[in-house]
Amino acid sequence: MRVEVDQPRCVASGQCVLAAPDVFDQDDDGIVELLSRRPAPDRHADVREAAAICPAAAIRLVEE
Ligand code: SF4
Repeated sequence: MRVEVDQPRCVASGQCVLAAPDVFDQDDDGIVELLSRRPAPDRHADVREAAAICPAAAIRLVEE
């Protein structure tokens, strides 16, 4: 799995960080920052949850 984030779309809600704090972070303005572009398989469920609950649909998952 590869993770992509669309920072201009992000509304800084922080839901992704709550769901997968080892994969997503927020900068000083609350905008998403990607910590892990290819998270380990045991993190995939959390990453899928983050993508599902993001209110801005700013997280894209590419299955490889
Ligand atoms: S959940 Fe979506 S809108 Fe909220 S901080 Fe993460 S990427 Fe941005």
